[in-house]
Formats: sequence, structure tokens, C-alpha cells
Amino acid sequence: MDTNFDVIIIGLGAAGSAAAYHLARGNKRVLGIDRFRPPHVFGSSHGESRIIRQAYFESPMYVPFVQAAMGAWLELEQISGEKLFVKSKSLTLGNAASTVIQGVLYSAEQYNLKHQYLDCGQIRQIFPALKPTADTVAVLEEEAGLLLPEACIRTHLDLAARAGAVLHFDEQVMSIKANGSGVDVTTSTGRYGAGQVIVSAGAWVSELLPDLKLPLSVERRVVHWFKNTKADDLRFLPDKLPVYIWEYKPGQMFYGFPDLGNGIKIASTKKGATGNPDQLNRKVDPAEVEALAEIVRNYFNLDAIHAQASVCMYTNTPDEHFIIDRHPFHENIIVASPCSGHGFKFSSMVGQLLSQMASGVDPDIDLQPFRLDRFNS
Ligand SMILES: Cc1cc2nc3c(=O)[nH]c(=O)nc-3n(C[C@H](O)[C@H](O)[C@H](O)COP(=O)(O)OP(=O)(O)OC[C@H]3O[C@@H](n4cnc5c(N)ncnc54)[C@H](O)[C@@H]3O)c2cc1C
Repeated sequence: MDTNFDVIIIGLGAAGSAAAYHLARGNKRVLGIDRFRPPHVFGSSHGESRIIRQAYFESPMYVPFVQAAMGAWLELEQISGEKLFVKSKSLTLGNAASTVIQGVLYSAEQYNLKHQYLDCGQIRQIFPALKPTADTVAVLEEEAGLLLPEACIRTHLDLAARAGAVLHFDEQVMSIKANGSGVDVTTSTGRYGAGQVIVSAGAWVSELLPDLKLPLSVERRVVHWFKNTKADDLRFLPDKLPVYIWEYKPGQMFYGFPDLGNGIKIASTKKGATGNPDQLNRKVDPAEVEALAEIVRNYFNLDAIHAQASVCMYTNTPDEHFIIDRHPFHENIIVASPCSGHGFKFSSMVGQLLSQMASGVDPDIDLQPFRLDRFNS
């Protein structure tokens, strides 16, 4: 058994790769293990792009968190020289009373975030690619855009390895056992020991920690790319079309991205089937394509053909907030599930928080809302 590590990280996707980077930079002896070779298409962090926005309609409590995460992404870009962030702005659309418009305005006001309120005429004029109905309004945010998730993960892992982290790919963790002073980890090919373990296994976190009986559900989600038939149409490029979230009917939303070269990427927030991550249906039904094609016809001035689709997983908590906490019975085990379909943007900062927890340093962000004991009742 190799016991030469301060921290073992299980799962090197969005959160785990960032934790490996911060811990290795802090001179910890780190072993990172992943059952695949990240970035890969089998978890929750693939598919070209992830939205990052600050005026968080879900809750203002995320604003300082996302601002810190944005700073961490920009710093990572600077250190690595890699392109990780595309500043395309962010547009939230809905009717004036919709959850998203009210939520974005509330967060923007609470934190004094720069934003612009647009009526339907202004939306049509500034964003000719969009076809809003007469009652649609929008909030435009400048300091927002998209992250390139595959590049983000690859960069965190490359820099972690350069700083001395040992990374094992294509090796599956089978069990995690706390001993008196540390934790033993058994994988498909070996056994390892460390003072602490971070479990950042995304959709598989519940099966690795069965004693916790986590109230998580793993949900299938599909994203689609539609290719513009007019090659000289510039209205869908990142400097013309922001990332957007659009509540087009009460409680019904779609979101999407400008064209990065493969077409505009768009997805519905309609609930998908839940189940075991290893039995995820990765085939996309023609009815799923048609549902999105109808949205494209109704809400965009775009003559497009469906180019491709990709299946991904949300890992949902009952309240859709994250889990970042210590195991209640084994304090050497740290659990991180930046999940529920909105976690990528935060993962640069989640890595830093996990590194601080494992190093005995007070975390920079208040982690109270992300504790496990909120599920006890
Ligand atoms: C369609 C879709 C759209 C999204 N859009 C956005 C968005 O616009 N903005 C945003 O902020 N967020 C978004 N999210 C959410 C975000 O992408 C996820 O919250 C985030 O990527 C999850 O990261 P993670 O590290 O928890 O999981 P992952 O990145 O999936 O990493 C988990 C890793 O654990 C490994 N693993 C699992 N089990 C084991 C084991 N037994 N042994 C070893 N390794 C193991 C896996 O191989 C995997 O690499 C979206 C998610 C989806 C699915």
C-alpha cells in the first residue's frame, strides 16, 4: 500500500482537477484518481461551453462565490496562457414578473452589479438574432460569458502535475475506509493511504459514500447544436450574441450560447429521466431534437439545421444547492458535489475551498449553506 500522500482526490473533473491544482501548488503530496481520463464525455463537464454570470437569479448568496470564481478563472488563464473564458456578456429574458427577471434584478441590486434593463424593442434592436414576444424584457450583464470546460479541466490537471501531483487515470476507486488517523482507498489496481480524502466524483458520489445515504438524483440532460445555413451571418458570434437564459413560459426555460464554430448550442431546462449514471441513455430521440428545433424556430431569426447533440448528467440535491462539507462521522473525508446543473462556473473556487479545508485553513467563502446536515430533517 502506498501511503505517501497528504490528500487523495477521487474524481478529477471540474471540482477535483481544481482541488488537485490548489493542493499541489500548496506543496501537499497529492494523489488524484479518476476512473476515466479527464476531460472526458462520461460525466458532467463536457460539451464545449458553460455559462458564467454574476447576477444569480437562483439566490444572491452565490454572488460573492461566483465573483471569487471568476477571479480564479482569470488568474488561471494568466498563469497558464490558455484560453479558458470568452467574455460574451449574459442576457436573461422573460416577462417582467418572471422568476428569472425578478431573481436577476434582486441579485444585481443586492450587490450593486452593473446591468441594463431592456424592453422588447431594445432586445430586437441590439440582438437581431433573437425573436422575443412583445411582453419579453431582458437584463443584460457585461461581466459574464462562457467557460471552455475541457480546457479548464485540462489546464488545472496539467498545472497540478507540473506542481508535483501524482495523477492516475483509468483507475476506478472501489472503496474508501477511514482508519484512526487517515483514510485507505482501494482501487481497481491498487491500495493507497492518505491523511485526508476529497470525494469529488460527481454523479458517482453517492455510490462511493453509501453510508451517507445522500439525497441526490442523477438526471439525464441533452444539449443540441444548430448550424446556421448562412455562413456569412455574424449575428450569432460571441461578440454579438451573449450567453442567455430565457423563461419563455412561466417555469419553462431554455438557455444557450453563441456560435463558437460548431453552431449555436442550446438546451431546455425540462426535467430529464433520473437513474444510475452507469446506465445513462446516451441516445438522443428525434422527438428531443424536434422540441429544441421548435424553440429555435420560435425564438431565433435563424435558418438552421440540427448538427449534433450530447447527453450529460446533472447531480441534483433536493434544494439545488451544493454540497461542500466534511463527512459527519469521518472528518478526514471531504465531500464536494458542486452540482444541480449550475456548478461548473464555481469549480475554480471550489478547488481552492477544498484545498483550504484539507490544509486546515479557514475557507474564503461561508460554507454553511452547503453543509450536509441541512438534509437531516
Ligand atoms: C448539460 C449540462 C449543462 C450545464 N451547464 C452549466 C452551465 O452553463 N454553467 C455552470 O456553471 N454549470 C453547468 N452545468 C453543471 C456543471 O457542468 C457541473 O456541476 C460540473 O461540471 C460538475 O463537476 P464535478 O466535478 O462535480 O463532476 P465531473 O466533472 O463529472 O467529475 C467527476 C469525476 O469523477 C470521476 N469518478 C467517478 N467515480 C469515480 C470512481 N469510482 N473512481 C475514480 N473516479 C471516479 C469521473 O470519471 C469524473 O471525471 C451543466 C451541466 C450539464 C450536464
